[in-house]
Amino acid sequence: MKGKLRIGFYALTSCYGCQLQFAMMDEIVQLIPNAEIVCWYMLERDSYEEKPVDIAFIEGSVSTEEEVRLVRKIRENAKIVVAVGSCAVHGGVQSWEKDKPVEELWKAVYGNATVKFRPKPAKPVEDYIKVDYRIYGCPPEKKDFLYALGTFLVGSWPEDIDYPVCVECRLNGHPCILIEKGEPCLGPITRAGCDARCPGFGVACIGCRGAIGYDVAWFDSLARTFKEKGLTKEEILQRMKIFNAHNPKLEEMVEKIFREVKE
Ligand code: SF4
Ligand code: SF4
Ligand code: SF4
Repeated sequence: MKGKLRIGFYALTSCYGCQLQFAMMDEIVQLIPNAEIVCWYMLERDSYEEKPVDIAFIEGSVSTEEEVRLVRKIRENAKIVVAVGSCAVHGGVQSWEKDKPVEELWKAVYGNATVKFRPKPAKPVEDYIKVDYRIYGCPPEKKDFLYALGTFLVGSWPEDIDYPVCVECRLNGHPCILIEKGEPCLGPITRAGCDARCPGFGVACIGCRGAIGYDVAWFDSLARTFKEKGLTKEEILQRMKIFNAHNPKLEEMVEKIFREVKE
């Protein structure tokens, strides 16, 4: 891109963890000669949500009417829109109970409190506008943000990761929690890129980076392992829904895994 890259970072319903993660990076300072921060409240007091940008990074799920208007405005004003983090890409943990009425969820959390805005069921940004690229995770890895930003800066396009957490886990030589302890690790069906962080600490993956493509070759052996360890389809699906409730391929993928089991 010619001239300074105009960047916007916008927050919808979120914990602000994604932008905090990136705002704290030392490398952001090196970006300043090549970029203009048009909107990023955590970094720039004079931020403008309505101004045109080259790249709009959006964190958070769309959960109010105001946010519907904001994402549409961001799309109008941006050349490239990047959904950042599990909330923006898949609706996040706030979508976990997406099949329950929003009024019931609201009451469970806030009781009879009144608010100025109308809450909506939390949804991914892509349910409302076209998204050009996704940065996965809760929060995403700093390196993924730097890679995307750096690639855009040189006028190129970042690649997506299409292999599962297990690949990084095996490369790191971590003991397999699924095989050795029978715990429901979701590494086999979750997009890699975190360097298998949780299994590295002896904790089963809960799928925060989202599901990989569902048409993968190792489903039959995976299904067999799940079954041998006594894990059910419902258990895997419920666990995967923590971060992936809106993933349109999720049920099909888990169904397929279990269909492949040879009795
Ligand atoms: S993806 Fe995770 S870290 Fe980012 S805003 Fe959502 S809850 Fe926070
Ligand atoms: S611990 Fe989890 S991520 Fe690691 S190899 Fe086993 S199933 Fe895959
Ligand atoms: S191991 Fe799984 S839950 Fe942990 S950071 Fe990686 S994708 Fe997220």
